[in-house]
Amino acid sequence: MMTHRLSRTGLSRMFSGAAAQIRQHHTWLSELDSLAGDGDHGTAMLRCVQKMEKAISTGTDNCLRTCFEQTGWAVFDADGGASSSLLGTFFLGMRDGVPANLASLDCRELSAAFQSGLTAIRKQTSAQVGDKTMMDALVPAVESFSAMAPAAEEIEDALESAAQAARAGAEATKNLIARQGRARLLGEKTRGHQDPGATSIAFLFEGFCNGLKAPKGEAGNA
Ligand code: ADP
Ligand code: MG
Repeated sequence: MMTHRLSRTGLSRMFSGAAAQIRQHHTWLSELDSLAGDGDHGTAMLRCVQKMEKAISTGTDNCLRTCFEQTGWAVFDADGGASSSLLGTFFLGMRDGVPANLASLDCRELSAAFQSGLTAIRKQTSAQVGDKTMMDALVPAVESFSAMAPAAEEIEDALESAAQAARAGAEATKNLIARQGRARLLGEKTRGHQDPGATSIAFLFEGFCNGLKAPKGEAGNA
């Protein structure tokens, strides 16, 4: 099943796929955070994906701007930690990148929404690629999606490329020293382990892709 235009039901499958990835890997995410932070990142992300799924499944409005707005506020409220607030900001930024009263997005329109999400996050954090944060995965994911978008017929193709870029970015944080967030206090000790937030972003994009590819109703098993 391939998707030319993403609607609320497609977005819901993407979120289910993302939730499945986080549920499968949350223990590792907390382990990574306990090496460089306070050890709560896996549980924080579990709450985030639960909020994402709930926001999209309880909403009845097919307007995607509304979907991203409801998701953003729900995630923002999820936890109180750095990652939920940045991720909530990302979805609220996506809302700002979607025209009003649109019930579906093609690949280019979704790419504009991702770009707008990135712009919103950049207003909240000064973290750059190389600072060993979620930005190390998110920036290449959005760039890669945008590079594919003009030619991509199917949203899944651009998501697959974004997921690969996110994973490569997350893996590359292994050799870096944290310069932002709690982990920056540990400096040199953070080298050797990949950043938990970047790792989560890679799982989210992998899940978005799996979820959208899965037949209807089976995204959770993807
Ligand atoms: P907290 O640090 O509040 O416990 P989490 O453990 O949920 O939050 O998330 C930690 C992750 O959040 C880090 O691995 C990093 O990717 C991301 N992060 C933390 N602070 C920042 C920041 N200032 N800018 C960008 N990302 C950040
Ligand atoms: Mg933490």
